[in-house]
Amino acid sequence: MENNTTIVSEGSLDRVDEVFRSLWDDRAPLVIADSNTWKAAGAQVFKTLKESFGDRCSRFIFPDNPKVYADYDNVTTVRQVLEEHPESIAVAVGSGTINDLVKRASFEVGRGYMVVPTACSMDGYTAKGASISRDGFKQTMDCPVPKAMVADPLVFRHAPAAMSASGYGDLAAKVPAGADWLIADRLGIEPIHDEAWHLAQDGLKEVLADARLLVDPGSGYIDRVFLKLVDLGQAMAVYKDTRPASGADHLMSHVWEMEHLFYQGIEPSHGFKVSIGTLVSTALMTEFLKVDIVQGKEKVARFPGLAWKDRLAQVKALLSSTPTPPPVFETTVKTYKVKYLEPPALKARQKIILEKWNDIQGALADQLIPFDTLKGLLGVAGCPTEPGHIGLSGQRLELGIRKALLIRNRYTILDFLYEAGLFEDLVTQVVYGGEYFSI
Ligand SMILES: [Zn+2]
Repeated sequence: MENNTTIVSEGSLDRVDEVFRSLWDDRAPLVIADSNTWKAAGAQVFKTLKESFGDRCSRFIFPDNPKVYADYDNVTTVRQVLEEHPESIAVAVGSGTINDLVKRASFEVGRGYMVVPTACSMDGYTAKGASISRDGFKQTMDCPVPKAMVADPLVFRHAPAAMSASGYGDLAAKVPAGADWLIADRLGIEPIHDEAWHLAQDGLKEVLADARLLVDPGSGYIDRVFLKLVDLGQAMAVYKDTRPASGADHLMSHVWEMEHLFYQGIEPSHGFKVSIGTLVSTALMTEFLKVDIVQGKEKVARFPGLAWKDRLAQVKALLSSTPTPPPVFETTVKTYKVKYLEPPALKARQKIILEKWNDIQGALADQLIPFDTLKGLLGVAGCPTEPGHIGLSGQRLELGIRKALLIRNRYTILDFLYEAGLFEDLVTQVVYGGEYFSI
């Protein structure tokens, strides 16, 4: 991780002061947590630091209400706390939200920070960039990785089971995300980066195959899931982009995050939304594998593409079908336009698509976990396996897939199906065909 310190071992929280001193001998620690993560590990971390740094050590704990979100207002709150403590370096104690807020706020005041994770719930601890909502648009805001991560798997074993399941879901996503990258690689759009690829993919399916152990805290399985998620963080740091860890699966999840999807009074976790995205992505790829090159040629021939103004009308209609704040609307259109191909450029792309058709199908067949196996593993891990489990109707699922095509300049199975003239048929088949989901 770019010479940064990563410690993952039982009892490591007792060494937080030592790690802090090795990095910032002349600075004081400022522990930042919320009320839950304070109980999980914050109080222990604060005690260790207090013994070492005395009254120079300070803390900031987000209150219970309202629930803390990774939005820009809260980045501002953390930045103000840091500005009030000009000598301090933040020690983020928490999971995705706290880490992202502290990561970005520390960057804005020109300081490093360290993180103590409280759950094995996602892969972003050691990743570059923070996933923050600003003006309603979820985006990866620039900021460097933490200078150090000190993780104690004992803390994860006491975290709520749903958080560990969420980490499992986020890890499972790397399988179709890898497949997305293979497609982009084969088409010459974004070549595979060897080191990042191996960090992300080596041993991944072996870890995922043991999902049944997730419910047994004594098995040490959660440590394996966490270490693999750490590899993903490193892959993103090496590649300086989230590509190794995020494909269409995450784009769908980002759409539902931006729409503030709630189910039974709570917002499904990142990993739970990603679990459904992972299944949808895998299902779409599975359907693509059924289309042979002869049928592919017919489909491509029937899809000459649309001029941007006509496509824009479709995009506007799609975005207007649900309440979309103007900044989200504008950013989405701007982002999509960058990668959108006008008919002549589309024709050139389709030629490559057909040339690489069999090669891509072979690569995907090797990469993917068969849909039914994947669905079974996610279920055993305690992740949602039906769109309804996170409150998605068929129509909302369909809209999410359609919007996911638009929101990032990242080539995935969605772009591929669109350009190959398969998007409409395959989305309909996956969402409503009854083969993949009970909708
Ligand atoms: Zn993720």
